[in-house]
Amino acid sequence: FAKRMGKSNYQFYRDSINSKITGNIGMESLLRKAIDRNEFSLFYQPQIETKTNRIYGAEALIRWHNEKLGMVSPGEFIPLAEETGLIVPIGEWVIKEACRQNIAWQNAGFNCFPVSVNLSIRQFYQTDLTETIKRIIQDSGLDPQFLELEITESMAMDSETSSVILKDLKNLGVKIAMDDFGTGYSSLSNLKKFPIDHLKIDQSFVKDISADVDDRDIVATIIMLAHNLHIKTIAEGVETIDHVEFLTKHDCNVLQGYYFSKPLPAQDFENWMNNWKKQ
Ligand code: C2E
Ligand code: MG
Ligand code: MG
Ligand code: MG
Repeated sequence: FAKRMGKSNYQFYRDSINSKITGNIGMESLLRKAIDRNEFSLFYQPQIETKTNRIYGAEALIRWHNEKLGMVSPGEFIPLAEETGLIVPIGEWVIKEACRQNIAWQNAGFNCFPVSVNLSIRQFYQTDLTETIKRIIQDSGLDPQFLELEITESMAMDSETSSVILKDLKNLGVKIAMDDFGTGYSSLSNLKKFPIDHLKIDQSFVKDISADVDDRDIVATIIMLAHNLHIKTIAEGVETIDHVEFLTKHDCNVLQGYYFSKPLPAQDFENWMNNWKKQ
């Protein structure tokens, strides 16, 4: 019986790999053409400062709409883009578009705020990353303090190299956020070593705030730790009033999540900002 099970498991495994590969080849060739065909867009999710209840920033999140595939979530195509190297031109497009949109909002008279973009690991270790970003910022005319780069702990595993890269980036005048904090391997000493402006508490901890005493302690401890290192905290995945109250009580600086808004297309985000101001 064990042998039969083993065999059928193997068969199942192989089939799923095969379909994954053929599926990916199809997807890969569509992904290659996606930039030229204007199939990407950025959605924006507001970040609210607890102390003032004002817009503190926005995170730009990529969306891919393809005729054949429909809406493909970044969770599905970013890993493929990473694997194939396509993430480099895609990532460049994301930074350009985020800068362009931010300038457009500033010109339209909205209060200035940073827009953050997610970097992938391959992008992070490109030798010309700093030069590329510098050029994009200059071409866009954006004041660099209004661009924020999000990296994750796992990207910064090689702490010597990462701290050099991060310092180069920081010298451009941009802001740096550590995304998904608490989920990856990380050395706490990195937090002290890296020039980090914001630490984003992963949504998995925020989600269980109301139910799980341990997660409550973890969140409170992360906030304290960050503040001792003079790093501001942003909570991700804030969905309920309970989350808002707990995080506000523990001095979390900034909140982001469905409680305030889902990520929105630029035009909807503008409407959202206009409504928020009126409150
Ligand atoms: P992330 O950077 O941690 O982004 C937060 C994710 O949580 C987003 O998913 C967002 O839509 C979702 N989210 C926000 N608020 C809530 C909430 O209250 N509840 C729940 N359950 N989820 C919430 P999304 O847009 O699907 O992006 C997933 C991941 O894909 C991102 O995680 C990021 O790692 C990656 N990603 C997105 N855009 C880009 C990009 O332009 N470049 C790269 N390299 N990665 C990207
Ligand atoms: Mg992020
Ligand atoms: Mg995150
Ligand atoms: Mg995440």
